Amino acid sequence: MSDRLKSEIDELVPGMVALRRDLHEHPELAFEEVRTSGIVTQRLRTLGLEVQTGVAKTGVVGLLRGNAGEAGAKTIAIRADMDALPMHELNEIDYRSTVDGKMHACGHDGHTSILLAVADILSKRREELTGNVKFIFQPAEEVVGGAEPMVKEGAMQGVDGVIGLHLISNYTFGRVGVRAGTVFASADKLLLTVNGKGGHAAMPHGSVDPIVIAAYIITALQTLISRETSPFSPAVITIGTIQAGTAFNIIPETVQMQGTMRAFTAEQREQLLRRIRELANGIASAMGGSCDVQVFNGCPPCTNDATMTELVHQAAVASVGDDYVDSSEEIMTTGSDDMAYFLNAAPGCYFIVGAHNEAKGAKYPHHHPRFNVDEDALPIGVEVLTRAALEYLK
Ligand SMILES: [Zn+2]
Ligand SMILES: [Zn+2]
Repeated sequence: MSDRLKSEIDELVPGMVALRRDLHEHPELAFEEVRTSGIVTQRLRTLGLEVQTGVAKTGVVGLLRGNAGEAGAKTIAIRADMDALPMHELNEIDYRSTVDGKMHACGHDGHTSILLAVADILSKRREELTGNVKFIFQPAEEVVGGAEPMVKEGAMQGVDGVIGLHLISNYTFGRVGVRAGTVFASADKLLLTVNGKGGHAAMPHGSVDPIVIAAYIITALQTLISRETSPFSPAVITIGTIQAGTAFNIIPETVQMQGTMRAFTAEQREQLLRRIRELANGIASAMGGSCDVQVFNGCPPCTNDATMTELVHQAAVASVGDDYVDSSEEIMTTGSDDMAYFLNAAPGCYFIVGAHNEAKGAKYPHHHPRFNVDEDALPIGVEVLTRAALEYLK
């Protein structure tokens, strides 16, 4: 099988690269992926798949029914995200973004192209599949908005296992990272509003100074990591903005702070969010004020199932060789990805594919205006996903 599969993929490479570049030139933001999902829909229909459009606004689901199946056959889902970012591209490439202020700076153009190639190959191998493959193209990953509604609208119905990948520009080209357990952290955006009592800066005893309260809260929040979190289970709390005050001689009424919290298990996430509220409220009320804590855009951690991870691991070894597959902690990230919602709906595995190549200028981090990937990583992604699906439905 291996040589035949590699040559099937090789044949698709020029088309895959061309499509990735076309998508790169025409980036679309969250829930605006009309052109992109139109291309996806048309290609899936051409391959003879049953296609559902408008799932979570601009999402697309393609169903491939295998021909070798019996009743009760399994279904594996493979997911890709399609959206770009609101930023100006600084790359000098001939397929540079043609839309001012929008850019594919996370590699989702590559993910879409990869998954369409997988659909192409598997649709020609339907006679080998004992079950079904669902191809899930989700909108709005970057705003953590597309995956959850797709799951709610039934995209994962009847799915027994789910896989997906992320191209990573700071992970060496040629390598594949696969690991059981949590690989991407949870992410929650925090908004803390400290309420005091304004007044003259020279007469603080007549006021409740929210700036001093905020200062204590910021310091104390870090003790949730250093004193209450096991050194063996990483978590992050960052306060990224603090806004208050209008003049040097006025004590303001309120302070607003925004931040983010990252954790690696659902339990730890709940515990830390609870303790952030308790600590902020407790400190503020002890000092005569109050603190309102709001949590937005929460995304659960991406936690891989052991069996599905083993399936993908073997597919990766068959694709790039044992020496190029990593399973160490180094592939974990405190970044987040809403693939988490699909992984919570069925056992699955989210893995990373190295796309860093200094010589090709693919050396900038994700969300950087000069972000790019080594396009030779695309066929690697196709091969690992295809092998895993073929094995799952053998
Ligand atoms: Zn991103
Ligand atoms: Zn991404």
